[in-house]
Amino acid sequence: MAKIKKLSEQIANQISAGEVVERPASVVKELIENSLDASADKIEIVIENGGKDLIQVIDNGKGIRSNQIELAFSRYATSKIEDVNDLYSLRTLGFRGEALASIAAVAKVIAKSCHKEEKEGVKLVLNGGEIIEKETIGYNKGLEITVKDLFFNTPARYKYLKKTSTEAAHISRIITAAALARPDVKFTLDHNGNRTITTPGSKSLKDVIYSIYGENVFDKLISVEFKDNFIEVSGFVVEPDIMRSSRQHQYYFVNGRPVYNKFLRLSVEEAYKELFGIKKYPLIFLNIDLNPILVDVNVHPTKREVKFSRGKDIKKTIKSNVKNILIKNKEKTSDSSFN
Ligand code: ADP
Ligand code: MG
Repeated sequence: MAKIKKLSEQIANQISAGEVVERPASVVKELIENSLDASADKIEIVIENGGKDLIQVIDNGKGIRSNQIELAFSRYATSKIEDVNDLYSLRTLGFRGEALASIAAVAKVIAKSCHKEEKEGVKLVLNGGEIIEKETIGYNKGLEITVKDLFFNTPARYKYLKKTSTEAAHISRIITAAALARPDVKFTLDHNGNRTITTPGSKSLKDVIYSIYGENVFDKLISVEFKDNFIEVSGFVVEPDIMRSSRQHQYYFVNGRPVYNKFLRLSVEEAYKELFGIKKYPLIFLNIDLNPILVDVNVHPTKREVKFSRGKDIKKTIKSNVKNILIKNKEKTSDSSFN
């Protein structure tokens, strides 16, 4: 066996990039989360060829200081937590300090930043994690990150990318989830020069749903609003006649973060099944707010799957409340059909 050696930061970053950056959509997710953590209220996303050739995220958040921009691209560098206890009161989407370093390790990156308290902007160019240029620029406040040629230096990973339409669909879903979670933020997506998503940033979840799904879904929304036990739920489900054949349009947000969780998924589905007995899936847009101590977001590096410490209680509570709301709605709609 060869001698034991410490891996260079660049190789370590390439390896950890394997966990953080699975595909173009993971880059989009990480960059959007950073923009939201930086208090942006306008986020523009531009992609080419499903993000395989180019991903650009432009925000109007607070920006990164010129003398900190290199640090932002080094591994485990974060402004969001100071020690492990901070994880239990986390208010930001990010905290690992890995995303920018990982993305930069497997792509060509140009970052343009102008911190809100600085007069000049800065541009940093990286190639496979290596800094090749830094210069002062004029720039609007905020951060613009351009990611070109993802996996150019890891051909084995590049090979696993799917066709353009598949990668673009993954990106759309990430942006849709973020936009539904944050109606106060204006999102746009341009793919190969065509605008495919625009949300108004009007603070209304209904407006976001309208901008993404159009009138047909908008007209069939059923408002869900309740406080029960230790959870507070708000959002929309839909009338049963527009149920879909897949779960693709089910969005749950826990304390503002898009998540997957088995108990949540089953809670509403079971309510529909017991009432309507149809083997189809409702569209779901629900915000669940609860004490962060009951949520463990730390299960997976990409942080979509969450664990609850009282999952069964949460499921029971949501199921019975949604069921009541659906029953009331059914009575209301059958009444009005007599008029
Ligand atoms: P994390 O989000 O886990 O802290 P990242 O690697 O994603 O790690 O980002 C590193 C740091 O760079 C962040 O903690 C933040 O201070 C800064 N940063 C990243 N993106 C932005 C942005 N869009 N606006 C302002 N600061 C940013
Ligand atoms: Mg981050």
